[in-house]
Amino acid sequence: MSFESLGLRAELLSAIAARGYASPTPIQSAAIPLVFEGCDLLAGAQTGTGKTAAFALPIVQLLGEKVPAEKRRKPRALVLVPTRELAAQVSEQMNSFARRLSLRSTMIYGGVNIQAQIERLHRGVDIVVATPGRLLDHADRGTVDLSRIKFLVLDEADRMLDLGFIDDIQRVAEYLPVKRQTLLFSATYSQSIKELADELLNQPRRVEVARRNVAADAVTQAVYQVEKSRKREMLSLMIRKGNWNQVLVFARTRYGADKLTEELLFDGIKAAAIHSNKSQSLRTRTLAEFKRGEFRVLVATDVAARGLDIERLPHVVNYDLPQVPEDYVHRIGRTGRAGEDGIALSLVCPEEHSLLQAIEKLLKYSIPRQILPEFPQYAASRIGKPKDSRKAKGPAKTRKRQDKPTVDAAPAQVPVKSATPRRTKEPAARPLPKTGRRGSRSR
Ligand code: AMP
Repeated sequence: MSFESLGLRAELLSAIAARGYASPTPIQSAAIPLVFEGCDLLAGAQTGTGKTAAFALPIVQLLGEKVPAEKRRKPRALVLVPTRELAAQVSEQMNSFARRLSLRSTMIYGGVNIQAQIERLHRGVDIVVATPGRLLDHADRGTVDLSRIKFLVLDEADRMLDLGFIDDIQRVAEYLPVKRQTLLFSATYSQSIKELADELLNQPRRVEVARRNVAADAVTQAVYQVEKSRKREMLSLMIRKGNWNQVLVFARTRYGADKLTEELLFDGIKAAAIHSNKSQSLRTRTLAEFKRGEFRVLVATDVAARGLDIERLPHVVNYDLPQVPEDYVHRIGRTGRAGEDGIALSLVCPEEHSLLQAIEKLLKYSIPRQILPEFPQYAASRIGKPKDSRKAKGPAKTRKRQDKPTVDAAPAQVPVKSATPRRTKEPAARPLPKTGRRGSRSR
């Protein structure tokens, strides 16, 4: 299918060409005609599928057909997003299409001074991309008029619910006309998403696109088993010896992300944290610096990382496994993009064994286990071994642990890339290096 055959206007086709898109992605082919037909949409699609253009293109085209003559325009399309980062990304795409048809789009989010937003809204806009809390603030103050909204998009609706935006979304909806077209995008379908869809959508058409292939050739996955107390030591070793210069590390909590960042800095590794407790301006600046390669490690929580478009990221590390197995898929989708090789490693402690099992159940295969020579104590451990190999080898035996090894002894090994994930093989421990042992640093 081509963009031309979707019935898009010449101005938008040239904007698409300028962005370098050769043909529509599956979500674009499926969703664009339905939006043109006027259907409400319940779309299962995650970041990276091209979902933004799937709603932005037809909405811009439909709005562009009738641009109001008056200077102070009232918003006719509203896109609700969970985070400021996603607002920026959606706005950037939306703007690149909207300006071709002389439409104005603006971004509204919390954590920054409200006055500049009030002024922009007052000057008149056609499209608003907003986080729910701040938008509601504007609606309650009367600084945004939502009575002319024709299109409502809920982008990453599952994340908005995770972040507790349900009440804000419902209250925003009260400001909107009943007669409108509503598009809901979500990576997952939970009961609460179904309830939200029942409430806000009118006989929606369902569109589902395949998840990004988590076992894609370009992504090598591996699990390293390690005691919780030694994770930081393992990570520092991997980064330094592997000479990784751009690595995204996932931590479970904001506190954990800050703590790990401090520890990495202490280890002489330039790092910064990004999470929802950081001010908006700091998050923006941190992400920009990371993209420019000004520091090596970005430690992020799932919420902060969601929707970030970081291209050609070579390494993703799960310092903590996610509580929700689907988040593992989102996380490792940050690497190996656009045909580039990527490595997604998980540092798993015994306490996380059940989380690992849940992830492997979702993936329907076992992630290969790897061992660093400096951390051999789990080589003989049966904890967290792939299910099928455990079965093949009979009941677990208790093995004697080796002495605690010192850190910084040999280059960190990275797993060998394999096109298909290995399912049962248990790698052997690599021998301890003979030279170069140094004392491990403690705080
Ligand atoms: P999204 O899922 O909307 O966050 O888009 C993910 C990335 O894919 C963004 O960098 C888009 O610019 C890009 N993209 C969207 N549509 C296409 C397309 N048809 N061809 C190539 N890249 C695209």
